Amino acid sequence: MKKDDIVTLTIDDIGTNGEGIGRTEGITLFIKDALPGDMVRAKIMKMKKTYGYARLMEILKESTMRTTPPCPEHKRCGGCQIQALSYGSQLKFKENKVRNNLKHIGGFENPKVLPTLGMQEPYRYRNKAQFPVGYDKEGNLVAGFFASRTHNIIPVQDCLLGKEGNGRILSLILDTMKSYGVSAYDEKTGKGCVRHILIRYGEKTGEWMVCFVINGKKLPHAESFIEVLKDLPGMTSITVNINESRGNVILGEETYTLYGQGYITDYIGTISFQISPQSFYQVNPAQTEVLYNKALEYANLTGEETVWDLYCGIGTISLFLAQKAKKVYGVEIVPQAIADAKENALRNHISNAEFFVGKAEEVYPAYCAAHGEGARAEVIVVDPPRKGCEESLLAMMCEMAPQRIVYVSCDSATLARDLKYLCSHGYDLVEVQPVDQFGHTVHIETIVALHRTDL
Ligand code: SAH
Repeated sequence: MKKDDIVTLTIDDIGTNGEGIGRTEGITLFIKDALPGDMVRAKIMKMKKTYGYARLMEILKESTMRTTPPCPEHKRCGGCQIQALSYGSQLKFKENKVRNNLKHIGGFENPKVLPTLGMQEPYRYRNKAQFPVGYDKEGNLVAGFFASRTHNIIPVQDCLLGKEGNGRILSLILDTMKSYGVSAYDEKTGKGCVRHILIRYGEKTGEWMVCFVINGKKLPHAESFIEVLKDLPGMTSITVNINESRGNVILGEETYTLYGQGYITDYIGTISFQISPQSFYQVNPAQTEVLYNKALEYANLTGEETVWDLYCGIGTISLFLAQKAKKVYGVEIVPQAIADAKENALRNHISNAEFFVGKAEEVYPAYCAAHGEGARAEVIVVDPPRKGCEESLLAMMCEMAPQRIVYVSCDSATLARDLKYLCSHGYDLVEVQPVDQFGHTVHIETIVALHRTDL
């Protein structure tokens, strides 16, 4: 089998990035946009010894797991990888992905992975959108999404995962940019002004935030942008974030307010949160509540416990648990997020939560060293970014030996790696619950309960 050969095969598996996997003549082929159960004709694009990549030419027989994807751009756009897979099959795929990582990376023989908790309505769930702004080949000003694996902007203003109001906000901004000749940033030259438009929505409050991410300090014609946006229902916060760096990081360090407040508010359960542009906030409000209720269940609090919430963001899990704990400590690296967290404790009259800025792997061990036995906690929650926890932090946690650890993860591969460490240093894996926060993408949130082995 060689490049440009045409093969016919049946897809029998799905890869971690949503690509179809099939086998023919002893070779494993990865085929984008093919689904398990499809019989396809495909052209070999690249061959290695035992595997290769092929391009889908024709679906000869459709998989029963297929559904008609509602978004016309789903194949080009990098956002959704598995929109053509029926939602029920997506949930099963995610459960299997978590189980496979626990087996192959974590070395767990038969981990208790529960079926994925799915969404009631798997579209229009995202409360946050970041639209790159730039020019198309003809030089027209566009905003939308990057095409898969490129930085070409597909001018989509209405992403079906996002809120319906995004499109209106975006077109008002683009029209104003055109009227006043405000330029978009050009990644190649490093010149031009507007890089990204960040939009956030408070699901329970109906509040909108618009943040202009610009290459420069001052947004030209700021008053005209305020004028067109401020009367939209719920417009609460218009801000500018300064990002003068080259490279791919979306937000810069500094944000200032053009109109209204520097934040919007939202509720999770009965707790109200203020959210600044730079703070992390879970993107799927309905499923966040499902996730945090699981965290509460796994923490199993009676009111007597001390809890550490490491990687706490704006204190969402901390304050959720503070309702049932004696004391909660939160640690987070982004200073604005900790400022939000402190404000959020006050706003909800929660007085048994304390927050620290810094790296979890530095702040927590330093606190333990300074307080000795006084640093003991019954429960530790960790919710790290995709790269997972530093081993030194896991080691410190095991040394402090809380009765229960609740691990919340957005990457089941690093989760499996970290669980392997925890379970060879005194903990048992009790239960693993995938929660679908990111429908139609290959991403999966997972929450895990661990108990100390000797208890
Ligand atoms: N638990 C929160 C936030 C989880 S996202 C929630 O559910 O909303 C992960 C958070 O970890 C982000 O806020 C990120 O800024 C923070 N973070 C990243 N690296 C960190 C580190 N080394 N130490 C502490 N926090 C970190």
